[in-house]
Amino acid sequence: MAEVTIVGAGVIGMSCAVRLLEAGHAVRVYGRELAPPAPGRAGPVGTVTSAVAAAVWYPYLAEPRDRVTGWSAAALAEFTRLAEAGVDGVVMTPGTEIFREPVDEPWWTSAVPSVQRVAEPRPGYAEGWSFVSPVIEMPLYLPWLAARVAELGGTVEQRDVGSLAELDGAVVNATGLGARELVGDASMEPVRGQVVYLEQVGVHRWWIDDSALDLGVTTYVVPRSRDVVVGGTEDHGAEELVADPATADAIVARARALVPELAGARVLGHNVGVRPARPTVRLERVGDVVHCYGHGGAGVTLSWGCADEVAALVG
Ligand SMILES: Cc1cc2nc3c(=O)[nH]c(=O)nc-3n(C[C@H](O)[C@H](O)[C@H](O)COP(=O)(O)OP(=O)(O)OC[C@H]3O[C@@H](n4cnc5c(N)ncnc54)[C@H](O)[C@@H]3O)c2cc1C
Repeated sequence: MAEVTIVGAGVIGMSCAVRLLEAGHAVRVYGRELAPPAPGRAGPVGTVTSAVAAAVWYPYLAEPRDRVTGWSAAALAEFTRLAEAGVDGVVMTPGTEIFREPVDEPWWTSAVPSVQRVAEPRPGYAEGWSFVSPVIEMPLYLPWLAARVAELGGTVEQRDVGSLAELDGAVVNATGLGARELVGDASMEPVRGQVVYLEQVGVHRWWIDDSALDLGVTTYVVPRSRDVVVGGTEDHGAEELVADPATADAIVARARALVPELAGARVLGHNVGVRPARPTVRLERVGDVVHCYGHGGAGVTLSWGCADEVAALVG
């Protein structure tokens, strides 16, 4: 069995750590930033994009489609199993992606056996595609992943890695957007996303409306245990981590138009993350290094499928 160093402590690095530990490897994870601890618990402070994810299982802003469909299907099966096992923050939740005009069946539907076409899902919308999808509440799930790594004997350290050449043995590069500098990957593109947290007022379905994506606008409503995440934006090339108040107002207005139950829900907070986008996800082995980054808007959705493949490539 190998000694494996994973660079990156987001959902990708930590899911890979779990799979490699389960396969019997000795694993250490280095993260320049670590996810915040569970609410009310002490621990290292920091942010990773994964902590901002909404996060509903949905293949979005990630290519290539054939591999993404396979990774998504594997992760859907694993999240379904975790939800059944009662893992913190993983809840199977019904919802609908809605379209103003009739569309062909979305390309990813072979990953979701339960998907169904719905006519006129909302006033003004021609059709929708409904299915039960895992909603993954990252402030609860990332600490669960960290605890699982520790339980299996892995370690997680706050450390900035300047070069992969610093590291001995097998290495997994799960640095997300950090791969731009770490391995000089100029094809990485930051895609900024802003969200608002609204009071949970009894919303129990997720909704996605990407009709205005060409304007950099995506509308989604994702219910969690203590709040409802509403979004969002898709700003290509933008990395500003401060929330814009006018954008937040527009996000809330669109969410309330889509889900009128949110009309009286108080604003609880704001957040911004930068999606690590790439023309295609990079998942390949080069010498002793397995690269696994560039998951765009679907890192959570792809996590377990990619982690399985990384574990197979480490061998
Ligand atoms: C607003 C928003 C909503 C989203 N919603 C969803 C959703 O609903 N569903 C979904 O599937 N996805 C969603 N995403 C996308 C998802 O968040 C990302 O795809 C995912 O977090 C990428 O995970 P990662 O582990 O690759 O990167 P990150 O979470 O960014 O982690 C990268 C890690 O690498 C570390 N690192 C980088 N460089 C170095 C270095 N040189 N040395 C050491 N460590 C380093 C970082 O510190 C960090 O620990 C959303 C994203 C945003 C912004």
